[in-house]
Amino acid sequence: MAISYIGNIPNTHVRDHQRKRLYQAEEECSFWDDINVLSINNIKHLVDNISEWAEIKPPTIILEGNTHVYATQDTIVLPYTDTQTIPFICHEMSHVINYNSTNADHHGRNFAYTYLKVVRQFIGLKSYKELLGSFRKHKVKYRRKRMQRRGPKTMTIKNGRKSIHDIAAENPSCKICKLFIEKQIA
Ligand SMILES: [Zn+2]
Repeated sequence: MAISYIGNIPNTHVRDHQRKRLYQAEEECSFWDDINVLSINNIKHLVDNISEWAEIKPPTIILEGNTHVYATQDTIVLPYTDTQTIPFICHEMSHVINYNSTNADHHGRNFAYTYLKVVRQFIGLKSYKELLGSFRKHKVKYRRKRMQRRGPKTMTIKNGRKSIHDIAAENPSCKICKLFIEKQIA
């Protein structure tokens, strides 16, 4: 989980009022038990695919030389191997997407909305429903409407599983692709 207000991020005046509740909510979800450490190539593949899906520039990935796990508009920092996992990357990439949108917050309604979409797309529908239920239980607020990207283009968070099929077709020997395929079947 990220510690906020590190690095050059927008809207630092926005209070991070529901961070603790959001951390509690995600911790109770079973997809957070995935402690499988990804290789550098797999981290890059996942980050690139999430970026492409969210229509943002892929962030710089920093895996060493930092003490904190965090994300900015253009960087994702995962200095410990136990954070180089799918749930951590989905959480941090949700920050990157959120920081590239209008009305960026930290663990607020916009972040929670983005995080739900990322989990649905890159972890699966079951995990999305689990996270949604946990957000409701812990009273984590999330935006209901589609978010706007910075600039004139509307950010479309695509629904459905199509992009995962595309990813799998792209690189069938990739560990990330295999995970996606397994999760789809499960
Ligand atoms: Zn965070």
